[in-house]
Amino acid sequence: MKIISKDQFVYAMSKDSPAVEHVADGEVFAFDTMDAFSNQIVSETDFFESADWSTVNPATGPVFVDGAKPGDVLVVEILDIDVGNTGVMVAVPNMGAMGHLVDRSESKIIYIKNGFALFNENIALPLDPMIGVIGVAPSGEPVPNGTPDCHGGNMDTKVIRKGNRIYLPVNVDGGLLALGDLHAVMTDGEVGICGVEVGGRVTVRVSTIKNRKLETPIVESKDHWYVIGSDIDLDSAVKFTLDQTHLFLSARLPLSTNEICMLMSLICDLQISQIVDPKITCRMAIQKTPLAKYSLSF
Ligand code: CA
Repeated sequence: MKIISKDQFVYAMSKDSPAVEHVADGEVFAFDTMDAFSNQIVSETDFFESADWSTVNPATGPVFVDGAKPGDVLVVEILDIDVGNTGVMVAVPNMGAMGHLVDRSESKIIYIKNGFALFNENIALPLDPMIGVIGVAPSGEPVPNGTPDCHGGNMDTKVIRKGNRIYLPVNVDGGLLALGDLHAVMTDGEVGICGVEVGGRVTVRVSTIKNRKLETPIVESKDHWYVIGSDIDLDSAVKFTLDQTHLFLSARLPLSTNEICMLMSLICDLQISQIVDPKITCRMAIQKTPLAKYSLSF
């Protein structure tokens, strides 16, 4: 199995980034990743002061998927996520949704042991590793890895985890897949500006679906489809995500536009992924069970 080194990384998703590896359609391979701070915070006397979103979130890659063409969809199955044994968190005045409550810059080392992240001697949190940054190159200008958008990027969405698959629109030849910014633990909102930031290894299988229109990433789990939308503020992200969910369902169900609107109030949960990045990300969780008789597929 190919393992892409964490030393081969990008700070932006760009069509001009040279591929560091080629993989075949259907291939299983792995990415080794640094943490969101490029492994620069190793003690509680190292601080994250930068508000520069262009030098955070190194993403390992990009990887060229042979045969992937603009207009296709790239399917990334997340087979495994292993995280390292030391994570880090930061608090920075005036950054994030709660920066007004942060009275000084602080870094906190979080040890990871026996499947738990140890916040302090009394709070041990079960690991639930997820991928903060995953995406492909956009067709236009590069997008820094601090920002989520229709190409993926810094979606900080906790359902991007082991066992699930993510569908991404291919915008350039080979897709140019990159990922990083693993979190050992993170809850919806990411209100404190980070999760337990950690390096690790992500094992994936990639494949393509030819000639399929997709405007924004979609995640599939055993029980749900998640339509993911990012925009400049929460209201805009919600509106975009609802419209994309309506499109997704309309294309797959023999129901009227009004019935789809009604159904979305009954089987879809609107959830907030993160409110701290340069664009805000939310998602619509579509329950699969009520639609079982329609055998929805991507
Ligand atoms: Ca992130």
